[in-house]
Amino acid sequence: MASGPTVEELLQRNAERVKTFEPILSLSEISNLPPDQRLPMPKIFIVSCCDNRVDPWDILGLEKWDAVVTRGAAGRMASQFSNLLFLDHVLNFTDIMIIHHTDCSAQLFGNEGACQVLAERAPDAVGDVEKLKLPGFEDLERSVQEDVQLLKNSPLVRKELAQRTRGFVYDLKTGEVKPVSEAGPA
Ligand SMILES: [Zn+2]
Repeated sequence: MASGPTVEELLQRNAERVKTFEPILSLSEISNLPPDQRLPMPKIFIVSCCDNRVDPWDILGLEKWDAVVTRGAAGRMASQFSNLLFLDHVLNFTDIMIIHHTDCSAQLFGNEGACQVLAERAPDAVGDVEKLKLPGFEDLERSVQEDVQLLKNSPLVRKELAQRTRGFVYDLKTGEVKPVSEAGPA
C-alpha cells in the first residue's frame, strides 16, 4: 500500500499555502459587519464517521456556512455530546443529523479487541477501560437509533432540538443518505 505524506511534508505544504492565504475574519470583525453583510451562522449540527470515504461536505453538497460538521469514529453521538452541548449554547441549532455508514470499521472490528488491548496495556486501569464509551457497534440501524435516543433521553438537550434530531445511514455503494426510523418500544 502506498504511504501518505509525513508531518514534515504537510508543514511544507502549509508553507506553500501561506503564500496565497487570505486572512479570515475574526469573531469581533464578523459581529461588527453591517447587518446586510452578516454571515449566516450554521444551524444544523451534523455528526458522521471520520472515515475518509465519508465526507459530509461532499455527500450533502454543503456550503461553508450551512452546518457544523463533527466527525469521529463511526459518527457516534456519545463522543460528540459535549461538543454539541457547548456549540448549541453558542449557535442555537435547529436540527441535528446523525449519519452512520455501511462498511464501517467500527462495525467490522467492534469494541472487544480494543478493550483487550487497552486492558493489557494498563492492567491497573481496567475499570477505566470499562467506563470508556467506545464507538464499536453490531447493528448499523440500531447504532443510529441508539444515538438519536441518547439525545432524546438527555435532560441537557433542548426538547425542541431533540425532537428535530434525525438519524441516517449513508450507503457507500449508492451514495444515498437514507433515514433510519426511530426505535420502537423495547
Ligand atoms: Zn466508519
